[in-house]
Amino acid sequence: MNTPPDFDPARALPGALPDDARVYAYAGSRIVVAGSEDAPRIPTWREWKAAGADGAVHGLGALGGTPCVAVTLRDDEVPAGMHASGLRALFFRIPDVDVSLAGRASQVVEWDRTHRYCGRCGTPMLDQPGERSRKCPACGFTAWPRVSPAMMALVTRGRELLLARSRRFANTSMYSALAGFVEAGETVEDCVVREVREEVGLEVGALRYFGSQSWPFPHSLMIAFTAEYAGGDIRLDDDEIVDAQWFAPDALPPMPPSVSIARRLIEATAARLRAA
Ligand SMILES: [Zn+2]
Repeated sequence: MNTPPDFDPARALPGALPDDARVYAYAGSRIVVAGSEDAPRIPTWREWKAAGADGAVHGLGALGGTPCVAVTLRDDEVPAGMHASGLRALFFRIPDVDVSLAGRASQVVEWDRTHRYCGRCGTPMLDQPGERSRKCPACGFTAWPRVSPAMMALVTRGRELLLARSRRFANTSMYSALAGFVEAGETVEDCVVREVREEVGLEVGALRYFGSQSWPFPHSLMIAFTAEYAGGDIRLDDDEIVDAQWFAPDALPPMPPSVSIARRLIEATAARLRAA
């Protein structure tokens, strides 16, 4: 998810929200939307109040000057006249800016739901002024929203690129770049080398940063690289990878949707290899 260019992430809530404020509310892990099932949309504050809806309100920032809030509801608490949906199911059905802000909101709500009590001593936590954090009044433990770095690596060899099919992919014909979570104590660069070695048995070097993307399922930050093949033969980790092959840039298999950084990474690299 890319941050909309006219979004200002100031966290503070205005004294009273205007009627047109945008409400990104979650009932459990599902986002609450107004409109019909066929034409979902993000409710305004006026609609939210008219529905008698409630919940804990967190400032997200402002989009083009319009305040945006995240709201935490109980798992089964869907306001009258609205419905709840998985965020992924709303891709391409609500505007990209709403997908992006809903992704932000989901991470704030997830943090709100999972950090009510101190993880060290169990005392109820208190919101801290001036930043999005909570502190335990008994032992001083402080918690911030969690972000989990993950890396993505697209390996190239001459004019070919390596794509793999993960066991996790729901779409069984789709291929993508390799990816994995950064482990404690590791740099992202270490992680690229380790994951490529573990998943397909290859050695890589010449890492080049491509870009990053917040991925709120539930709180990843995907950091994408290209890397050059430096040795070895493909040897699959059968627990993770079903298939991995070298592809020519003009003969690519089905790929992830364009909302993902994986697709942009593959397309940009394929274009570079075609031009080489
Ligand atoms: Zn504590």
